Amino acid sequence: MSYSDASKLNNKKTRSKVVTLTSTQRINCPECGNNKEFLEVSDGVILTTRFIQNNDGSFSQELDDSQVLGQVKFYCGDCGADLTHFHKRFLEMLF
Ligand SMILES: [Zn+2]
Repeated sequence: MSYSDASKLNNKKTRSKVVTLTSTQRINCPECGNNKEFLEVSDGVILTTRFIQNNDGSFSQELDDSQVLGQVKFYCGDCGADLTHFHKRFLEMLF
C-alpha cells in the first residue's frame, strides 16, 4: 500500500467519526414509537424547598433542594415502557 492510499484511508476514518459525533439521535419508544412525552420517576426523594418570608408576611420560594436517594427510572409517557437505558442520553440532552 502506497503512502497516499494510507492517508486516504485515514481521512475516511476521521470523517466517519465526525458524522457520528454530530448526529443527534432522538429517543424513540421501541414499543409505540412515541418520541414526545417521557416520564422520569425518582424513587425515595426528599423534597426540601427553601422559602423566604417577605415583609408583608407572604412567602417567596427561593430554591428547590431535592435529593434523590433511590433509583431514577425513565418511562415512555405514552405506553409506559421502561426506557431507563435511555436516561443517560436524556440527561445529556436536558437543557
Ligand atoms: Zn411507548
